[in-house]
Amino acid sequence: MADIHKNVLQLEEKLNQSLETVDRKRSEVQVIAVTKSVSIELTKAIVQEGFRHLAENRPEGLALKQEALADQEISWHFIGNLQTRKVKNVINRIDYLHSLDRLSLAKEIEKRAEATISCFVQVNVSGEATKSGVHPDELDEFIQQLADYPKIKVIGLMTMAPLTADTAILRTTFATLKECQRKIAEKALSYAPCTELSMGMSEDYQIAVEEGATYIRVGTSLFKD
Ligand SMILES: *Cc1c(COP(=O)(O)O)cnc(C)c1O
Repeated sequence: MADIHKNVLQLEEKLNQSLETVDRKRSEVQVIAVTKSVSIELTKAIVQEGFRHLAENRPEGLALKQEALADQEISWHFIGNLQTRKVKNVINRIDYLHSLDRLSLAKEIEKRAEATISCFVQVNVSGEATKSGVHPDELDEFIQQLADYPKIKVIGLMTMAPLTADTAILRTTFATLKECQRKIAEKALSYAPCTELSMGMSEDYQIAVEEGATYIRVGTSLFKD
């Protein structure tokens, strides 16, 4: 079995290194443990390590993990594409949605949510055709349109960087998202405070944190053997 404790120490060390580089505090970054690919046993192990923010990317996995951890105080995040017809099974079980990327989804959330839901608008910064997310050029209009859906609170932006080892590309991607976030936050919209940045995964969280991430989503680094 993976040595979760060792992985956590390693992550904390690298995270603190990056934070120090840019003079940020540890309390400014929330680490979300992405449990989508691991067993209930490993999910319990990461909670045992003190993690209270967990992310799943499928309604079935979410339900399974929630049942197993019903006795724990957990903040649940949904990452990845959420099919419109699955909204009703998910939206009232989660605390954060990281993948708001279309009005049809907003409309279904408005219809199904029993309370206001904290959302990140997913942005396709790199413009890759295979990636979901709102294009930066269309972001302003999309945010504006969300005013019509009072159940949705836009707490921030989310992106997935391209799969590349080129740190310059990664840095530009994250910096661009930060710039988008800053511009929206500046408008001080009541329904879209947009103060948060969900960016950075196992391969690139150090750069993301240096560029201002407030939530990083880490799976592999925590659960590797
Ligand atoms: C799987 C996934 C992650 C975690 O990726 P790792 O490389 O395992 O850290 C983060 N964000 C999203 C949207 C994912 O689908």
